[in-house]
Amino acid sequence: MADIAAGGKSGKVVIRNVGLMLSGDLDLPILDADTVVLVDGIITAVGREKDCDTAHAATTIDARGTCLAPGLIDSHVHPVFGDWTPRQNQLGWIDSTMNGGVTTMISAGEVHLPGRPKDIVGLKALAITAQRAFDNFRPGGVKVLAGAPILEKGMVEGDFAELAAAGVTLLGEVGLGSVKAGYEAKEMVAWARKHGIQSTIHTGGPSIPGSGLIDKDVVLEADADVIGHINGGHTALPEAHVCELCEKSSRAIEIVHNGNEKVAIAAAQAAMQLKCPHRVILGTDGPAGSGVQPLGMLRMWALLSSLGGIPAELVYCFATGNTARLRKLNSGLIEIGRDADFVFMDRAQHTAGRTLLESVQLGDIPGIGMVMIDGIVRCGRSRNTPPAMEVPLVISAAH
Ligand SMILES: [Zn+2]
Repeated sequence: MADIAAGGKSGKVVIRNVGLMLSGDLDLPILDADTVVLVDGIITAVGREKDCDTAHAATTIDARGTCLAPGLIDSHVHPVFGDWTPRQNQLGWIDSTMNGGVTTMISAGEVHLPGRPKDIVGLKALAITAQRAFDNFRPGGVKVLAGAPILEKGMVEGDFAELAAAGVTLLGEVGLGSVKAGYEAKEMVAWARKHGIQSTIHTGGPSIPGSGLIDKDVVLEADADVIGHINGGHTALPEAHVCELCEKSSRAIEIVHNGNEKVAIAAAQAAMQLKCPHRVILGTDGPAGSGVQPLGMLRMWALLSSLGGIPAELVYCFATGNTARLRKLNSGLIEIGRDADFVFMDRAQHTAGRTLLESVQLGDIPGIGMVMIDGIVRCGRSRNTPPAMEVPLVISAAH
C-alpha cells in the first residue's frame, strides 16, 4: 500500500465477491458479474469469477457481497487552486468529496478566485494555469478537470484557438462574465466548439450578487453543449420553461444539488418522458453559497430515485456513464478498457431498505466502504457517509 500511495502503479488487482455491480450504462445498468480485474488502473476483465483470469494478482479485494459501481462524476464544480475553496474558506473539500464517492470533477469555471482577472489575456492565463495545476496535483486522487475560462466581451476566435492549443478543453459557465446576450454567446460557443472546447451555460436567475439572469431563450440561442444547472443555481426558471428546454434543445441536461430541488425532479422526469434519459447528467455546483457538499452526488441519487420515482440503478447512470460519454471521459463505466475508478457501497446501517437500491429509493444515501481511483485504494470506510453494513477487505497487497 505504501508504494501505491506514493503514486506508483497498481499492478494487477482482482476485485471478487461483488454482490451487485452497477455498470453506469443506462442500457444495461446492472451487470451479471461478481468480479473485475484491472491492470495498472485499467479494467481488463468483467464477469463471473470462473470466467476471469484472476491468477498472479498483486492485490485481491474481497468485496464481501457489497456493490461495486463506477466512481461518481460531478459535472459541475467551482475549484480554485489545490484543495482549498475561498468561497467558504474551506480546506480539504475535494478529499472530503472523494469520501462521498466522487472520483472525477469537472470545473464550470474557477470563478471564486479572489481578484479573478477579467481582461482577456488574464482570463486565458488563469484557465491555462488552472488546467496545468490540477493536472499536476490531484487531491485525494480525484481527477479535477479544470481550466474553464469565463467568456468576456471582446474575445475573438483566435483566443479560442490559443486556449485549445494550450490544452484548455472546457468553457466556464457562459453568462458569468460580461457575455450574457444570446447572439454574443452563440458566436463564442461556436468558436469554442470548432476548436474542440466544450461549453456549459448558466441557466436561471443570478447565483450571487453580480451574476445575472439567463432565460430559456438565451439558453436556446447560445446552444452550449451543456444546459448547465437546468434546475437553477439556485434560482430556477419556471418549470414550464425548463421542460421546454428539455424538449427543444438536444444538449445535455445538467441537474445540480445546489439548485431548485422541485425543478430538479421535474427536469429528470421530463427527460424520462421525452425518452432522452441519456442526456441527463448530475453535479453539485459546489463550492457555492450553499457551501460544500461532500455527499451532494449521493444526495442527488437519493432525491431523484425517491421523490423523482426513477429507478435507482438508472439515476446512478446519470452521474457516471452519461457524463463520461457526454464529456468524453475514459471513466464512468465498468467495461474493459475504462479507468478503474470505483466506489464500493452497501446499504447504510439501520436503513429501512432491505437492499442498497431499495434504501436509495426510500430516500436514504448509501454507506461507502471504499473508493478506488486508477486502481489505487484512496479511502476505506468513508468518514462522511453513514456506516455501510459491510465493507470490502483488501486480502493481499503489493509491497
Ligand atoms: Zn451558474
